[in-house]
Order: sequence, then structure tokens, then C-alpha cells
Amino acid sequence: MQPRRLTRQVTIGDSRVGFVQIGGGLPNRDGTPTTPAPVSVQTMTSGYTHEIDKCVAEIHKLASAGAQIVRVAVPEKKDTDALKHIIPQVNVPIVADVHFHFQRALEAVESGVHKIRLNPGNINDRQQVIDVIQACKARKLPIRVGVNEGSIIERKDKQKRQKELGAVFSDHKHGYLLAIMIAKLEEYLDIFYEQDFHDIVISAKSMDASLVIDAYTEISKRFDHPLHLGVTHAGPKETGTIRSVVALGGLLINGIGDTVRISYANDPIYEVQDGLELLYCLGLKERIGVDLIACPTCGRIQVDLFTLIQDVRKALAEKVTVPMKVAVMGCIVNGPGEAEGADVAVFAGDRRGIIYVQGEKVANVPEEEILGRLLTECLQFQDKVKRGEAKLGEKKVDIVPPDPLGNLGSGWEKMAAERIKTGGGGEKPIGLTVGATR
Ligand code: SF4
Repeated sequence: MQPRRLTRQVTIGDSRVGFVQIGGGLPNRDGTPTTPAPVSVQTMTSGYTHEIDKCVAEIHKLASAGAQIVRVAVPEKKDTDALKHIIPQVNVPIVADVHFHFQRALEAVESGVHKIRLNPGNINDRQQVIDVIQACKARKLPIRVGVNEGSIIERKDKQKRQKELGAVFSDHKHGYLLAIMIAKLEEYLDIFYEQDFHDIVISAKSMDASLVIDAYTEISKRFDHPLHLGVTHAGPKETGTIRSVVALGGLLINGIGDTVRISYANDPIYEVQDGLELLYCLGLKERIGVDLIACPTCGRIQVDLFTLIQDVRKALAEKVTVPMKVAVMGCIVNGPGEAEGADVAVFAGDRRGIIYVQGEKVANVPEEEILGRLLTECLQFQDKVKRGEAKLGEKKVDIVPPDPLGNLGSGWEKMAAERIKTGGGGEKPIGLTVGATR
């Protein structure tokens, strides 16, 4: 991991919803020293902002999942009017996403929003931009300038411009796009600087992960404002995850990025969950709740592990708030090694599960009791940690004897045979090859 890039710092929020700092490390324009704030996670509501109750409920849901900043779209006046009723009811800073009409930005500011997002591709009338800047300046509100690849492509003289601008970044795959993103940003930000406005966050999104990486890398060399990372139109979660993680992860590893939004064509709760997980994985955020380790399964499993893993994940997500490591492993052959470092672990085998808490065997239960017993042990362990009687990560579950069940072997064949014998069917678990070994 490269050290975080130092930036000016932007603060968003108020004394009621709290403040979230974005970026930092460089002194601000008034000379105030800043230290880099932890990378924050944000998302955007999916419903209509003017449906006030639903919007408030969605913001609460996203904030409870860990969103530190929530953006809402305000395409119509009824949306900016709704903000007056929404903002007093929520407990996270709210950003108004303004598209084609600068008036919406002015109305959102009047409604008490905490930050404005402008797209240079859509609001580019100089005086209108100045009006928004002045309104934000008067209320000390930051503005995100978000250039999106799709909205800044120049259609007029496109070939000529492509040739001219592309030459600036001739060694890049997307020379023209990169150049035009930077050119638009420079042009737009000059208006802000002329107005002595520096409370700026920059984003430069594309659906192409490699362009996102190149664009933010170039921008990070040219501007000292904090950066909001994102891949736009990343697609459904199934494919958008890889696209987003490659781009955002690559940038964060290089120290670039101060706040992230993962975007999916799905419930934004997944954007929050995956944004948090990305930061946890990179060590950029202290984990809240369980770190679940689970084996990928192979021909050794002897229980329905996929179902068990999902049940454990859901149950622990609701009940565990300390960052304990929990391992759900399919067998005792490789499980202990793969679960090394877990606080609580279950190793399945022969339609049973043995449960360890920090190296100590506490139960050996039949398959149908694994979930309940594992949850009980996790909650008891959590209570001990909270009372100061146990310490996370203190002892490792890596001292399990090699074959405590005394009955290993070809898992799927035994399980299928037993199911057939008991009339329980014998479907082959997804992804398993009969008799597979490793
Ligand atoms: S060896 Fe055991 S722990 Fe590893 S994948 Fe196979 S079943 Fe899971």
C-alpha cells in the first residue's frame, strides 16, 4: 500500500447530523492544518426524493448499513422542496445531485442540503455556475465537481478534437477521453478559483475501469482537492463488483481516493456493504462486525456448507458488532490451516460440526444444530470481549487435532448415500465433483 495522497480537506455536515471530513493532510487555504481523514463510504438513494417518507426510510436504511454520506437526485422542484422535510429527519450528511438546472442547486442550498454535486457536462453556463458557487460559499457548503465520461464528450469537431487532445496523452489507451476530462475540469475549476472557492471534491467517472484508474491518477497529479472515487454505470452487482473493485481498489492501493461510492444496478445497500468491505480488506477502515472466513468447499465436505455459510453470515451481520473472525470450514483436513486466526470456528465433517472458540473445543453437534450453536458461541464470545474477559485475535484456532471426528473421507458420496438411504434426496451440491480431492 502506498501512503495516502495528501489533499486539502473538505468538511460536510452540520452539528446535528455530524461532520464527515474528506481528504486532508495539506493545510487548508486559511492555513488551518489538517490530517488525512479515513476514507468514507457513500451511496445514493434509488427512490424518488419527493416521496418524502420513502426517501427518509431509505436514507435511514443506508446510514444503518454504514453509509456516511448519502446523495439524492433532485431533478425537479418538488425534489428540492422535499429536502426541507427530509433533512431534519435524517442523521447523515445529504448531497444534492443536480443535473441540468442550476436553479435546483440554489433551491437545494436553501433547503439545507450539505453538499452539491455539479456535472460540468450538464451545467456549464458561466454565470449559472457562479450563482451556485456564491450560494454555497455563503453557507460554507462544499461542491463536488463530477466529470463523467459520457457527459463531456464533445460532439462538435469530434475528430479534430480527438486528434488534438488525444496527443496530450498519446501513451494512454484513452488519450482523448483522458485529455477532455482534464481539460473540462481545468476549465470548470478556473471559475471556482476566480470566485475564491476551494471547498471542492473532484470525481471523474467512467464505466471503463482502466480509464477510471488513469483519469484519477492524472487528476491526483494536477489538483490538490480530495477525490471521490467511483465507476459509473458499473452494471449489475454480479459484474459491477469486479469492475468497481479493480478500479477503486487499484487507486486506493496507490494512495489515491478519499471517499468512495460503488454503484450497482441494484439496491444501494449492496453499494454500502461492498464499499465498506473494500476498505476493510485494504485496512483503510476498522471493521465493524464479523470478518467471516469460509472455505470454497471441495469434495471433502459432508454438510450443506453453502446454506450454512449464508445463514451464518445473515445471522451474525444482525447480531455481532465486534470485529471477531469467524470461520466456517467444510472439513478438518485443511480447514484449521485455512481458518488460522479465527476467534470462533466450525469444522464440519460426517454430518456434524465441531466448534472451537479461541483454540478450545466447545461443542461437537449434529449438522442441524451447527447454526444455532455457532451463533450462541459467537454471542457469548462477543459478551466476553465487551466485558473485557476475552481479547479478539488473542488465541488462534489452529491447534485442532488432525482428525477429531475420526471419520473423514469422501464427503459428497457419504452425504448422498445417507440422503438416499433416509429418503432425503441426493442432489449433488453445486460446484462439487464427486470424489474430488485436492
Ligand atoms: S479442504 Fe476442507 S476446508 Fe478446504 S475447501 Fe475442502 S472442505 Fe473446505
